[in-house]
Amino acid sequence: MNLDMYNPFVIPFAFGVVILFVNLAIAFVSWLYRLDKVQRRQIGKNIISFKTLAAIWEAIRECLFHRNIFKTNPILGYMHFSLAFGWLMLIVIGKVEAVAYEGQYFTNPWLAIFFRFFEDGRDYPYKEVLTFVMDFLLCFVLSGLLLAFIKRMYSKLLGMRKTTKHTPSDRVALISLWCIFPLRLLAESSTAAIEHNGGFLTQSLGNLLAFLPVEKFVTPLWWAYSIALCLFFVFMPFTRYMHIFTEVLLIFLRKWGVIESQKHTGYTDIEINSCSRCGICIDVCQLNTAAKINDVQSVYFIRDVRDLSLDRHIANNCLLCNRCVQACPVGIETTMIRQIYRYKQGNEDIPFYEYINTSKYTEGKNSAPILYFAGCMTHITPGIIDSMKNIFDKADDKYIFIDEDKNICCGRPLRQQGFLEQAEVLKEKLTSIIKDSGAEVLVTSCPICYNSFANEYNLDIKVLHHTQYIKELIDKGKLNLSKQDVKLVYHDPCEISRGNNIYEEPRIIINSIGNLHSTKNEKDDTLCCGGSLANIELNTEQAALITSQTLDVLTKPNPDFIITSCPLCKKTFTKNCSNNKILDISEIVSRNI
Ligand code: SF4
Ligand code: SF4
Repeated sequence: MNLDMYNPFVIPFAFGVVILFVNLAIAFVSWLYRLDKVQRRQIGKNIISFKTLAAIWEAIRECLFHRNIFKTNPILGYMHFSLAFGWLMLIVIGKVEAVAYEGQYFTNPWLAIFFRFFEDGRDYPYKEVLTFVMDFLLCFVLSGLLLAFIKRMYSKLLGMRKTTKHTPSDRVALISLWCIFPLRLLAESSTAAIEHNGGFLTQSLGNLLAFLPVEKFVTPLWWAYSIALCLFFVFMPFTRYMHIFTEVLLIFLRKWGVIESQKHTGYTDIEINSCSRCGICIDVCQLNTAAKINDVQSVYFIRDVRDLSLDRHIANNCLLCNRCVQACPVGIETTMIRQIYRYKQGNEDIPFYEYINTSKYTEGKNSAPILYFAGCMTHITPGIIDSMKNIFDKADDKYIFIDEDKNICCGRPLRQQGFLEQAEVLKEKLTSIIKDSGAEVLVTSCPICYNSFANEYNLDIKVLHHTQYIKELIDKGKLNLSKQDVKLVYHDPCEISRGNNIYEEPRIIINSIGNLHSTKNEKDDTLCCGGSLANIELNTEQAALITSQTLDVLTKPNPDFIITSCPLCKKTFTKNCSNNKILDISEIVSRNI
């Protein structure tokens, strides 16, 4: 250690760095320790693979360049990019400058941070270039800081959102972050006023400051810069700025195949701590854009979970439509986390379905290669069931109608409300019915059931939504559809679109029947019909506003019919649409065979 390159003002900075890394180590170890068995197995399986290289690339792309935020809001993207990449480069190039100056790789660890103070004016390799680059990087970071300030004060001006309700730690971290770079600029410029060692920015400002008694305040300014760094590092792990480090860990775990489990694990905490509070999830949420509910979106939910101040109304007021999950630049599975927190709220008096006798569902029925599970919602739109029966018959496919007597559910609505144990009972019973049937394919008309069977059950038979089944029948030549000169639009139901990617099958079917027109919000940008079973907080008027927003988009091309492939969407639209224009895809197929 070169003690000529030391001043007591480096102590707060060094203290802050040590505390930061101790806190990070404690948090990371505790989260990884609390992963469940399946999540650990995924890491073990994939850690030594190309997935790790892919994770490194994604971490650079998202944590430094913030590509996903750029795609949604370039100004917000630039703000994050300049702060993250600019600050890292100030450290990296600062280290290069310190090495060039000292002529050896091992320099005092703080030299890169306070270089201008210790530099004595002697010449060293690439001095002018390095001084220019360091000033340029400081400008770059300051421009991001200016945007962060504008975002905080006049967020709407930049199409951004003010998302923070600050805890005391948030306030200290925010104020210290805002001070770090202006203090560095002032400290370096004051030193430049005396030593004439600044670049285009610091020397110009230094020349202006030279008329003041800079000798008196130059060292206090370096102290202030070091203290601001210290405060930021000490408070950062207890604030949203923790996302800077946690997001990197999340990217690696996700690439290794770790996903949310049904219960709270260390991975849930990693996701919660990866939210940067960018606010992108607010703009895509129909509770905000249609129903004007502005305080329940993912950013607020995660903030309240972090601050241990979650109100059950915030956890419950969500359609679980996944629009925010799709838009989140960090890819946080907020809807899964909401279900975990709904579960934590308690199970109250929901029955456990002991009365369900699994043997009677296939009893007395001839075996068949296909099981048809209509789903509870389909039973309240019987036109879909009649159409599916007609389609099975016309295709000459033999099937067993499992839930014909309407008394078993897939369990997903219960799961969405947080009643995990009860949903598990239904899952076990239904799994046993499906296994005992000996069928090869399970067809369902309900996207909610499809999502459940395909992703939550571990079935060893093929699971098809009826859009996929009908498309297969067309491909095999078992259904011949007659094309009409009708204008059609298609509404992608949330549960089979985002996450399940069933986009092409319904479009191919509809184009075989009529002329499909596109709409503003389709495929993974689809809107919710407003009938979601997952939101028990929404009143009828608020739900109707959501439905009406979605219907406005669907009716814009003035179609003859609006086609959907979800009984709940059909029911909700029909209730709110005066003319008889809404059809399920099975109904329009059945009419045109
Ligand atoms: S949940 Fe995602 S989109 Fe919403 S504020 Fe957090 S990081 Fe941004
Ligand atoms: S899941 Fe849908 S309703 Fe819930 S917060 Fe996200 S966008 Fe809003």
